[in-house]
Amino acid sequence: MSDTQPKINDTHRLQTEPLDPPPRLLLGPGPSNAHPRVLQAMAMPLIGHLDPRFIHLMNEIQELLRYVWQTQNALTIPISGTGSAAMEATLANLVEPGDVVLVGVNGYFGERLVDMAGRYGAQVRRLEKPWGEVFTLDELRQGIEAHRPAILALVHAETSTGARQPLEGVAELCRENDCLLLVDTVTSLGGVPLFIDAWGIDAAYSGSQKCLSCPPGIAPLTFNERAGEKLHHRKSKVANWYLDLTLVSQYWGSERTYHHTAPIAMNYAFREALRLVAEEGLEARWQRHRENAELLWQGLEELGLQCHVKKEFRLASLTTVRIPENVDGKKVTQFLLSEFNIEMAGGLGQLAGKVWRIGLMGYNSRKENVALLLHALKEALHHLQAQ
Ligand code: PLP
Repeated sequence: MSDTQPKINDTHRLQTEPLDPPPRLLLGPGPSNAHPRVLQAMAMPLIGHLDPRFIHLMNEIQELLRYVWQTQNALTIPISGTGSAAMEATLANLVEPGDVVLVGVNGYFGERLVDMAGRYGAQVRRLEKPWGEVFTLDELRQGIEAHRPAILALVHAETSTGARQPLEGVAELCRENDCLLLVDTVTSLGGVPLFIDAWGIDAAYSGSQKCLSCPPGIAPLTFNERAGEKLHHRKSKVANWYLDLTLVSQYWGSERTYHHTAPIAMNYAFREALRLVAEEGLEARWQRHRENAELLWQGLEELGLQCHVKKEFRLASLTTVRIPENVDGKKVTQFLLSEFNIEMAGGLGQLAGKVWRIGLMGYNSRKENVALLLHALKEALHHLQAQ
């Protein structure tokens, strides 16, 4: 070692224990527990991101995604990042500076769409509804006619409120008014009925860690031809190099040109997660989510608790429950975590302190989890009210 080399500073040389995460049951808004087969797939030996076997796997992922999303869209790919990366990719590629973007804001993720679209130069217009409610077709029509947007952005499954935005008929409104329909499907894909082509959705994105039971870190998006046209006729370059689909799609398309190193293990995991959906079948999977959600809703009612969203607009994947007046919501979630290893979440934004959020997503949407959660909640309420 040379005398001129600086002395190594050992201040941060932590001698830590081997990793030992607690066995949590993740019944919050996500991540949900990954399916064991997905975790196994992640541990498989790495291959290169241009290896023919990896390219074959990429093709399989795209095909399986088309099934899960019910679309024929050629541009259907996973983005290397979490749901917000796919969200940002969708906006960065479709919004041109000066475009009017109308956002349905009835929860936290509508607000995030507003923020992101604004950062890409959109003139953002808001259509507002109280958190927990959804937009009617008439309200959407009025909004479109008043603002004449280039893009209407809606959240199909608002994870902050547990509300499901009906999408039937919205695309027709958009087409009549020469506007693209962009939809957040992070908490619906693989858990709640969703038909990209039949509903005429032009662009959508999702995440991996909710109803697909894969760890966070990879997030799909899909663009139809109308969205593709807008992308390919842009006047300005996409203002985000990493998420520029004109570049990324050269790696996912026939050219296979290097753009960034694909997260190999995340793609293994995602492929397995999508295989699991294909094995079960969408119809059966949606039905399972629905039945377990119904069981939960019934059990909550029996405990004297009230759901925040009207039944017809409730998501099967995420339920918001009103915290009773005399109960400290935080203490209940802490009790569930410490006594039962169950993660349940509190509210976000406007609903902070007012609701709990219970996720029954993908692999976690099982009868035994509902029974355990209801038992734990009952204990928590009993224990904390007795104090
Ligand atoms: N959109 C919705 C509806 C979400 O629920 C989430 C995450 O919870 C996101 C977007 C952002 O995804 P991520 O946290 O994976 O970046």
